[in-house]
Amino acid sequence: MTRLYDSFQPNLYKVYLDIDRGSKIITGQTKISGLAKSTQIAVNQKFLKVSDVLVDDKRVPFTSDDEEEIISLELPQTGETTLTIDYTAPLTDSMMGIYPSYYQVDGQKKQLIGTQFETTAARQAFPCVDEPEAKANFDLAIKFDEKPGETVIANMPEVEVSDGVHYFDRTVKMSTYLIAFAFGEMESKFTTTKSGVKIGVFSTKAHDQKELDFPLDIAKRSIEFYEDFYQTPYPLPHSWQLALPDFSAGAMENWGLVTYREAYLVLDPDNTSLEKKELVATVIAHELAHQWFGDLVTMKWWDDLWLNESFANMMEYVAVDALEPDWHIWELFQTSEASAALQRDATDGVQSVHVQVEKPAEIDAIFDSAIVYAKGSRMLVMVRSLIGDDALRKGLKAYFEAHHYGNASGSDLWDALGQAAGIDLAKIMNTWLEQPGYPVVKASVVDGKLTLSQQQFFIGEGKDVGRLWQIPLNGNYDAVPQIMADREIVLGNYNELCQQAGAPFRLNVGNESHFIVKYDEALLNDILDNSDTLDPISQLQLLQDLRLLAEGRQISYSSVVPLLGRFANSKSNVVNAALYQVAGNLKKFVAPDSTEENDLRKLFDKLSAEQVKRLGWTPKYNESIDDQLTRPYVLNAALYAKNKDSITEAHSLFESNKENLVALPADIRVYVLANEVQNYSSLELLKKLFNDYTQTSDGSYKSDISLALPMTPDKDLLAKIVDQYENSEVIKPQDLRAWYRGVLANDNGQQLAWDWIRNDWQWLEDTVGGDMEFSTFITVTSGIFKTPQRLDEFKKFFEPKINTPGLTREIQMDTKVIESRVSLIEDEKEAVNKAVSLFVFNN
Ligand SMILES: [Zn+2]
Repeated sequence: MTRLYDSFQPNLYKVYLDIDRGSKIITGQTKISGLAKSTQIAVNQKFLKVSDVLVDDKRVPFTSDDEEEIISLELPQTGETTLTIDYTAPLTDSMMGIYPSYYQVDGQKKQLIGTQFETTAARQAFPCVDEPEAKANFDLAIKFDEKPGETVIANMPEVEVSDGVHYFDRTVKMSTYLIAFAFGEMESKFTTTKSGVKIGVFSTKAHDQKELDFPLDIAKRSIEFYEDFYQTPYPLPHSWQLALPDFSAGAMENWGLVTYREAYLVLDPDNTSLEKKELVATVIAHELAHQWFGDLVTMKWWDDLWLNESFANMMEYVAVDALEPDWHIWELFQTSEASAALQRDATDGVQSVHVQVEKPAEIDAIFDSAIVYAKGSRMLVMVRSLIGDDALRKGLKAYFEAHHYGNASGSDLWDALGQAAGIDLAKIMNTWLEQPGYPVVKASVVDGKLTLSQQQFFIGEGKDVGRLWQIPLNGNYDAVPQIMADREIVLGNYNELCQQAGAPFRLNVGNESHFIVKYDEALLNDILDNSDTLDPISQLQLLQDLRLLAEGRQISYSSVVPLLGRFANSKSNVVNAALYQVAGNLKKFVAPDSTEENDLRKLFDKLSAEQVKRLGWTPKYNESIDDQLTRPYVLNAALYAKNKDSITEAHSLFESNKENLVALPADIRVYVLANEVQNYSSLELLKKLFNDYTQTSDGSYKSDISLALPMTPDKDLLAKIVDQYENSEVIKPQDLRAWYRGVLANDNGQQLAWDWIRNDWQWLEDTVGGDMEFSTFITVTSGIFKTPQRLDEFKKFFEPKINTPGLTREIQMDTKVIESRVSLIEDEKEAVNKAVSLFVFNN
């Protein structure tokens, strides 16, 4: 594949933009100086109306190719060249390129202009060689229909304003996709790091000043942490964090000006759940990890996207664990990243972490959060545990020194880290990086000998092509080698090994390697008999591996059901997370309003009743972090169980806070609302919650409403919710997926939501089709469907779309996901429901 950078290598851009919000027109001029290696060159553009192209001040003919997103021209000679390109462009509501965000302050409609250039949208703002390798310096100059009280910010500090044009300091050498700026009325707060980097948080004035405190503190301490951990100074004078009301992704690591969804940055420090605070802290730490990993050193091409994302996704936990050790943030890694990666990576056809891509739509499609983020970070956690923090830091320092202001590929990272640790890391890691999927390691006693074997693990139909991995085993017996590279190994006489160790045999202790274990019956019973002595992560792992093995048809779900009771009174939030994930997976086996569903509700009641009594509905002052994080799981279970006391208690909490629902304790608010909507539904309640939804600036309250409201059993009200899907004044496109999923997951609403997406697919594609979240509407659909009829409808609707750029893999995988669920239910529902009813009878 030839890239534009091969024939033209820019070193300096002078970008001038005049943005008129009134007419929604951008008028621009871009001067690009660089080295032409060929006389035939091209630069990227998308939606630009180019009027003139000058080569070294002489007008030249050019051709625009909208399909290839380029303009091409011929130069008189190769060598140093300056292009001057004049153009206009539309300011569109696509959440890509330069775009407006809409919000209200005291009922007044306002706009904040911001940017989103990753992956290939810088070309919508100015012509450029829009490839990560094409690093250059940028002089940014911005003019806009400015009003008093408005601010404009960018990657670098402003150095001059003249004739209404804001000039920004020249950037360091950087990739085009990391350029950013924003303007409008903004609230802000500042501080400075120990090393003198200016830290700022910006939001619209719809937010209270105090909502900026938490992110400011986390951002400051994150930068300080990374400067120390990477042993490399933060390379820019400032680090701005900006919350944008309309934002397609979660956040974006633009160098020096990171942009976020409002819900992932600003929060009410006095009433936000710990869970949300942890989430916001990890998002900030993730983006700031990128300021080095991704921004200072950038992947050469998008196939190495994992270099950016997998790494930042590990570092967010490393950093937050250092900033807030009491949170035990690695537990969140186990319940979210590990579990997401193990689920998705088990479907045949999944992408590998390192994946070949060329076209823009393909590039957007590789941002598979469970793979490039979750599995990739798990891979690096394996590396970290193999080489240790000292070698990790030493290797990183060398990596930054060798590639700063430049680009790197995966092998550069393995070289740097491997050299620091003195091992051949690439040999081990390439088996994880280049191959999709992961192994199940079977541990069994054969003829008295403890034997291990590896084989790819699938949920659903999978074609075994004999893949092998180099597996860090982390066994608790001395006879276990550090790495298992062969298909099968024999460890020795089991009885002797067991006696020596004095404990049941276990692999993957700490759950840091990306594989699951299937113990034979005797070994498993040995572990289960001693499960009380296991630490919480090991208990989570036990439940999680059993659930996956059941999903993969290697054991029956009915054999897992009887085990649930022994974990029900755990005080650990991770054990409860795993427990209710298993229990939640039993819901697919029951039909609405059936005896089986009734039994399952009773099972949930038996699991949760004691815990609800112990923890209560209202958070207590000074309670443990585990209690704070466990309460949501058990309250949710109690509501599914239709526990009468819980329904009454939640209702009375609602009644006494009716006038100011946002003031309900944030940890339990969503359950209070869910209870009200499920058991006391009315049109009045719907109107009230929709009204609060559009008025509040509290992101977590908004998200509570979007989760709770679609739970109403009332079909008329559900139809009213679906009616708002395309009304961006109520539901912003960035938030639509949650509303769609909510109604689709509701037995009384599924038909409505499913009809909507099929009828209005074109609207959806026009509205969010340009960004990387689009395909996840298909993912959430496949996460819910479970009947042969829905499977048929799904295929009928999506199969004709299979060649849509960026959707092919998703449609193939999601079809498989529904197929395997349908057949699992068909084969096992009888046995599972029998086990549930026995559980209820016996407990
Ligand atoms: Zn990232």
